[in-house]
Amino acid sequence: KNDNLFAARRAAFPADLDAPAIETADTPERLVYSWRDIDHATAMIANLLQSLELPAGARVAVQTEKSVEALMLYLGVLRAGYVYLPLNTAYQSSEIEYFIGNAEPSVVVCSGKNFGWVSKIAFKAGTQHVFTLNEDRTGTLLERAQHHGVEHEPARRGADELAAILYTSGTTGRSKGAMLTHGNLLSNAQTLHAYWGWRADDVLIHALPIFHVHGLFVASHGALLAGAKMIWFSKFDPRAVAARLPEATVFMGVPTLYVRLLAEPAVNRDSCARMRLFLAGSAPLLIETFNEWRQRTGHTIVERYGMSETAMLTSNPYHAKDGDRRGGTVGFPLPGVGLRVHDDQGQPLPVGEIGGIQVKGPNVFVGYWRMPEKTKEEFTADGWFKTGDVGKVDEQGYVTIVGRSKDLVISGGYNVYPAEVEGVINEMPGVAESAVIGVPHPDFGEAVVAVVVPRAGATLDGAGIVTALKQRIANFKVPKQLFVVQELPRNTMGKVQKNLLREQHKGLFS
Ligand code: ATP
Ligand code: MG
Repeated sequence: KNDNLFAARRAAFPADLDAPAIETADTPERLVYSWRDIDHATAMIANLLQSLELPAGARVAVQTEKSVEALMLYLGVLRAGYVYLPLNTAYQSSEIEYFIGNAEPSVVVCSGKNFGWVSKIAFKAGTQHVFTLNEDRTGTLLERAQHHGVEHEPARRGADELAAILYTSGTTGRSKGAMLTHGNLLSNAQTLHAYWGWRADDVLIHALPIFHVHGLFVASHGALLAGAKMIWFSKFDPRAVAARLPEATVFMGVPTLYVRLLAEPAVNRDSCARMRLFLAGSAPLLIETFNEWRQRTGHTIVERYGMSETAMLTSNPYHAKDGDRRGGTVGFPLPGVGLRVHDDQGQPLPVGEIGGIQVKGPNVFVGYWRMPEKTKEEFTADGWFKTGDVGKVDEQGYVTIVGRSKDLVISGGYNVYPAEVEGVINEMPGVAESAVIGVPHPDFGEAVVAVVVPRAGATLDGAGIVTALKQRIANFKVPKQLFVVQELPRNTMGKVQKNLLREQHKGLFS
């Protein structure tokens, strides 16, 4: 038996290989790729890679713009049995130097326009082959692949062999390379396939980047494993996406994509009539967005929770028989995923109490690339992974995330959970969103500070918000200082970078 993830993908292709699998939405002319096209393109790339006679476990690092060919490259790497290592397109030279130096890939694929500096870094790090791949299907990778055959038997791989190294988003510090196996990815894809009711006649709007767990695994694997079609956007453009909603049945987005779609009048009940499932994750979905979406489209967003190290962990229910979709929660642990909440001393906490979330399951990664110490620290003695997220589980089993342990504020000895304070601030009139952080304070250890963004056209009175907060929450949770700003710093996945805010405000009380 071959546990190669690609082999499972290939087995799920529909009987009619000429059916459309991927249709581009924002290329100069519309391109349609059949299942046969995917089969042939991935075979050619796999044959090319195999002809290079790379060492076992070789990494193929990829930093290219999003394109269908870039997805083929991912699948081709799996097919050939090597380790896929995607890199954020926003990374510049010092970052690429770190990642390539750290990962020591045998092959690097970059955009033609970056070939000069990327190849220099790669060759210095000992990489043997650097190819280019551009958005318009040009570049040396495809030129070379053209000379290879369209048949290829997927390399034999065990479930516990590496399929990908995914660098985390770097929200809390330097990105770590999460090592994921064929078994990790396949088990999660199969679980989500069943839990979200994927069907062969689904049409997915794919508008997420493919260097991250959300777009690369959750979205692509979902459609590929179902034999469903994708409408492929290389960039998220709210107007263009809204225009394709009437044809689609599934959409996935980070919360900011939903906020931006809500600004489009074309997003309404009519345009979403065929839609079966809206999914959100990667960062907390504001309850306002959740409610507004339901009012506007008649659909209740399914919020789920996951991370690079584990793929998906929890999800709100899809089927009504499994329960309601509750805004502000991330739903239940997925079938096969163990989830528990422990205190800082490692003791289990009772239902409803807030503590560190730990998980276990076939989806949990095997460790951080070249960080054995860090890996050891993040697993408990009995083999559970410490997610670094803080949350609770209620009587019915719904999981709520209240923040990251690194973002927790301890003021005067009291724990302040940023998400709780943000929730109260966000309900105030004129507030669009907020970020609550802790900064060093001589008396309290840390002081609570809030950074608040007004709604379009609203003016906010910071002092007024603080006064109002004093009536709503305990004094130790009330921000000692509140700043009104036009936007919060976010990384490319739409995650608020609290480390930047902390850095900016660290001298406030010293
Ligand atoms: P780093 O680990 O490098 O600091 P990161 O944790 O943001 O970056 P990812 O693996 O991309 O890197 O993101 C996983 C994290 O995203 C989770 O640990 C959690 O904090 C957050 N997250 C994901 N989904 C949700 C959600 N639905 N609600 C709240 N937070 C979420
Ligand atoms: Mg993380």
